[in-house]
Amino acid sequence: MSRYRLDPTPAQQAALLAHCGHARYVWNLALEQWSMWPPDKRPTPGYVEQARQLTEARAVFEWLRAGSQTVQQQALRDFDQAVKNFHAGTHRRPTWRKAGVHEGFRIVGGQASRIVKLNRRWAAVNVPKVGRVRFRLSRPVPDAKSYRITRDRMGRWHLAFAAIPEPIPAPGTGEVVGVDRGIMVSAALSTGELLTCPGLSDREQARLTQLQRRLARCRPGSKRRHRVKAAIAKLHARAADRRKDWVEKTSTDLARRFDVIRVEDLRITQMTRRPKPNPGRPGGYRPNRRRAKAGLNRGILANGWGLLVQRLEHKAAGRVEKVNPAYTSQTCSVCGHCAPENRENQAVFRCVACGHQANADVNAAVNIAAGRAVSARRETPPRVSPKREPQHATSA
Ligand SMILES: [Zn+2]
Repeated sequence: MSRYRLDPTPAQQAALLAHCGHARYVWNLALEQWSMWPPDKRPTPGYVEQARQLTEARAVFEWLRAGSQTVQQQALRDFDQAVKNFHAGTHRRPTWRKAGVHEGFRIVGGQASRIVKLNRRWAAVNVPKVGRVRFRLSRPVPDAKSYRITRDRMGRWHLAFAAIPEPIPAPGTGEVVGVDRGIMVSAALSTGELLTCPGLSDREQARLTQLQRRLARCRPGSKRRHRVKAAIAKLHARAADRRKDWVEKTSTDLARRFDVIRVEDLRITQMTRRPKPNPGRPGGYRPNRRRAKAGLNRGILANGWGLLVQRLEHKAAGRVEKVNPAYTSQTCSVCGHCAPENRENQAVFRCVACGHQANADVNAAVNIAAGRAVSARRETPPRVSPKREPQHATSA
C-alpha cells in the first residue's frame, strides 16, 4: 500500500467529507441489514440486491442523491468483500463505522488510474464530483486499479493506492515453515523464531492511559478535550504505522525464505465476534459482554494477524497453506501425545508423555508446519473444546 498525503482545498475537503459520510452511511446500513438477518431465513442479501436497494434509497433521499453513486456503490462492494473475508476466516467481522474515526471511501476502475503529474513534487488524482485533488509525490505512483481516500483522526487526508504486491519467487529449497499466532508473542515460527509486532512502547502506553484518564475529565466540547483527543489519535496512528510496517517486512521475509508457509486456519473472526446487537439501539451492545471481549480483541488486532495472512497470500501466492488449528497447542510436536495437561501455562509446553519441553507457541508452530493438527493422535480425549483452548482462553 503506497500512501501519499493529500492536499485538498477547503472546498474540496468539504466535498470529500460528504463522500466519507455517504460511504459510511451506506456501509452501516448494509451492516445493520446483515447483522439483523435471522440465521434461519434465506441467505443475506448480497451486493446485487443491496445495489438495487441503494438505487431506491437515492430516489427517496435528496442528500444521498446529491452524492456520488460511484462512491456509494463502492461502499457496498467493500462491505460485500468484508463479509466474504469474514467467512473465509482471514478477517474479523465487519464493524460499525463511526464519524471522525472511520472517514474514507474508495474509487475503483478507470477513474483510479487517471493520475496527472503536475510537476516534480506534486500530482493530482481525479475524484468523482470533486475534481482534481493535489497530492505530494513522495514516491513513484504504482500502477493501481483502485485508491482509497481517508481522513485520519488528526484531520489529515491520505491517498492510498491498493497495488497488490508482486509475488516473491519461492527460494526452491523445499523448506516449509509453520507460523503460529501466539498471544505471548505476535507470531512463532517452527524454526524457533519468535516475532513481535511492535505496538506502543511502555512509555507510550503509559502516556496513552494517562491521556485517556484526562479525556474522561474534560468538559465535552472544550478546547482541552479537543487537544487531548488529538494526542490520543496521534499515538493510535503511530501504533498502526508500526503494525503495517512489521506486517510488510515479515511477510516479505517469510515469502523469500520458505517454499511453503503453513498458517493456522483460525477463524479469527469467531473469537473477535461481538455479541448480538441490541435491536433497540443500532450498533449498541450490552456493555458487560462487550468489555469481556474487548481485552482479547485488542490482543489479536494489535498483532495484525489477519493483515499478515493477507499479505502472505499476495507475496507467496499459491504457497500459503491453511491448517486446521485444533489441538495444535496441546499436542506434543515430538511424540504426538495430545493432552491439555501438556500446557504447563501460557508460555511453556511440557509433554506429560515424553517430557519434551518447549516454548508453547513454537511447539504449536512445529505442529502447524507438519500439517498434522487434525490428525493429532488422541490418546487422551481432549476435554477442552477448541474454542476454549488454553492458548486462546485468556488475553495477554
Ligand atoms: Zn511428547
